[in-house]
Amino acid sequence: MCGGPFRQAETVSRYDLAVIGAGPAGAATAIRAARGGARVIVFERGPRGRDKVCGDGLTPRAVRALEALDIDLDGAHRIDGLRMIAGRVRRELAWPDTGRFPPRGAVWPRRHLDAHLMAAAEDAGAEIVFETEALPRLEADTVVGVDAAGRRIDADLTVVAAGAPGRVARLLGCERVADEPFGLAIRTYAETPRHADRLLEACLTLRDRHGTAVPGYGWMFPAGDGTVNIGVGALSTMKGFRRLNLNELLADYRRLVADEWELGPDLERPRAWRLPMSAQRRHGAGWVAVGDAAGLVNPMNGEGIDYGLESGICAADAFLADPGGAPAAYDAEIRARFDAFLRTGRRFSFLIGHPLILRAGLRLAVGTATIADITLQVMGNLVDDDTPGAAGRVLRGADRLLAAADPVLRRTRARP
Ligand SMILES: Cc1cc2nc3c(=O)[nH]c(=O)nc-3n(C[C@H](O)[C@H](O)[C@H](O)COP(=O)(O)OP(=O)(O)OC[C@H]3O[C@@H](n4cnc5c(N)ncnc54)[C@H](O)[C@@H]3O)c2cc1C
Repeated sequence: MCGGPFRQAETVSRYDLAVIGAGPAGAATAIRAARGGARVIVFERGPRGRDKVCGDGLTPRAVRALEALDIDLDGAHRIDGLRMIAGRVRRELAWPDTGRFPPRGAVWPRRHLDAHLMAAAEDAGAEIVFETEALPRLEADTVVGVDAAGRRIDADLTVVAAGAPGRVARLLGCERVADEPFGLAIRTYAETPRHADRLLEACLTLRDRHGTAVPGYGWMFPAGDGTVNIGVGALSTMKGFRRLNLNELLADYRRLVADEWELGPDLERPRAWRLPMSAQRRHGAGWVAVGDAAGLVNPMNGEGIDYGLESGICAADAFLADPGGAPAAYDAEIRARFDAFLRTGRRFSFLIGHPLILRAGLRLAVGTATIADITLQVMGNLVDDDTPGAAGRVLRGADRLLAAADPVLRRTRARP
């Protein structure tokens, strides 16, 4: 149902699950829960087919989550690996075949990916209301459903899938943690004859117009449809972050790659958005937060579609297993899966906020094939706290070192 009169809500105001937001995290929740037999309603304030400012890159981790949801990836452009560029060094690496994740990623413009996921949610029986903002309804400290355009929906569980914190997060106290890093990124599209390339490209050595090294990267993500998604992102731990002009950074990066990619003019005005990397809370009585709303973005690469899909699946599974215990069970699952790795990432982002450390670190990151392989796994969101092999060992060792250095890193963090 799209935007029109909402007959079911007039007669049936009770649902098992009310989902706020129809990005990948909300969609995954809705698909999984509806297929499991739950009555699900999703509110999306954008229109059907809305776009989302994003790089459109799907890691092998995201592909695994989409496959777990039986999503047909035929509409996506397949990606076989990553080209990392640091100064004059270039490394092209195929996604590893670890057994945990498939050795393939994809680029799927969000306008199409999100519409596809919403269609799957509708097929599964979820009801979707577009162009309607929903807010959680609180009774004492418990979320008992949502209010949306004058309608009252009672729900056993409300799933906050509203993306980077805004009004909903303020109401529930699940905004980002003020002391923790966050990111900003900007993107546009351009035509290129290389649109069918099968590698993502990431340039790790960006500088702003003051010559400061930027902890972040520029990307070229070929979409297979005649265009490439071109963008840059930066971490808030950067020296001079507040004066960083993302439009200029993107324009400079574009100049750097324009010839090699034979870029046509920008197809739309570059647009920027936030990358939340922490949340004060991600559950409470009657509610859970998933995806960006829970701060589930990898600080080392700014990617969060995969974590959004996975956390949505976790929220639905926790609800289907035990509706009453779902918030606590979900939180425990997310803590076990992501917290240690994302904490390492946040600590790391303070480290690379120091320009000298960043320069030395980048040389190291792509310097040898073995280390570049670990960098690839980090950039592909392929590492977890319990990842076996060299990448897991390095990450766990790094976390111990970073934990010891963390107080100093935060004290000496680069300030604008
Ligand atoms: C420039 C940029 C590039 C990026 N590139 C990548 C990439 O290449 N790969 C990757 O994995 N990640 C990337 N990310 C991160 C990725 O976009 C997010 O992690 C991902 O979109 C999170 O999905 P989500 O479902 O949690 O939130 P979103 O996709 O933000 O969806 C939230 C939805 O909730 C809706 N909403 C909000 N409030 C309400 C309300 N009150 N009522 C109803 N609806 C509401 C919004 O309209 C929106 O549709 C990038 C981010 C940026 C900014």
